[in-house]
Amino acid sequence: MKVAYWPGCVSRGFTPELHGSMAQVAPKLGIELVELDRACCTGAGVIAEHNQELADTLNARTFALAQQELAKGADLMMNICSTCQGAQSESQERLDANKVYRDHVNETLAKENLTYQQGIANKNFLWMLVEDYGLDKLKEKVVKPLTGLKVGPFYGCYIVRPADRLGIDDENPRDSYLSLVIEALGGTVIDYAGSHKCCGFPIITMKKEASLTMAARNLGDAQDADADCIVTPCPLCHLNLDLQQPIAAKLTPKPLNMPVLHLPQLVGLALGLSPKEIGLNKHVVKPTAVVDWSTSVIAGVGAEGGGW
Ligand code: SF4
Ligand code: SF4
Repeated sequence: MKVAYWPGCVSRGFTPELHGSMAQVAPKLGIELVELDRACCTGAGVIAEHNQELADTLNARTFALAQQELAKGADLMMNICSTCQGAQSESQERLDANKVYRDHVNETLAKENLTYQQGIANKNFLWMLVEDYGLDKLKEKVVKPLTGLKVGPFYGCYIVRPADRLGIDDENPRDSYLSLVIEALGGTVIDYAGSHKCCGFPIITMKKEASLTMAARNLGDAQDADADCIVTPCPLCHLNLDLQQPIAAKLTPKPLNMPVLHLPQLVGLALGLSPKEIGLNKHVVKPTAVVDWSTSVIAGVGAEGGGW
């Protein structure tokens, strides 16, 4: 399987362990990543607030670059960031719905000999795993099942809202896919109140206390539900929930110590990669329970759990 891969700039900059773990996990799954290294930021919703056409043009350009790879044999376009997915889905909705607008945007893209053709399949890694790769095939790849590891899913709002734009319906319950993946990897899903709530990131620069209070509440909910860790498909959620956790902890009476994993890291653990190989040593909140689990599981696989 081959994907036109858009890692997003946060996974390359602020959370390099996300792109790093995806790069380790892909070959183990038999997925070839063709990185769209000429693509640019999705605008993260911020550009669209000020200039919708500019945001749509930037995203149409990325889609057009991906469509060049699709023409050469890639199966779909894939990202590893809920926020990218949300911003790109919004642009795609506008572009696909209106041929006149699409033609107008394509006039700009023509300067680079690019054209966006309506209807690209652009999926977050989470969606791709369930819908294209398949949970049965994923299970076959598991060499170190997450038995006994209690994992709280944290979606991030850009990948679950609005449901119709993001293709969430009875046939595609994308807002429960994290639970399906955790189960396929052999872990225990922890249900908790914050799993589908916002992490607070978008208001961090304007209302820091309110933002981190939201993060603290979600983390505390997972902790109260006895999760060993949280897993998220969104690096921006990761920034608020992990990087900012020491500050968020000061805004709540309960002590917080909740490790937050990126989705490819969780998959990597079950595929036998060591905590260090997937960059668990890069996190602010040390995922001690996860590493203890990893080092205590003897699965007879090549990769070793210790040494982080
Ligand atoms: S949405 Fe975020 S991660 Fe995605 S490209 Fe933009 S800033 Fe980077
Ligand atoms: S939960 Fe926060 S960072 Fe994550 S997608 Fe939502 S707003 Fe963005």
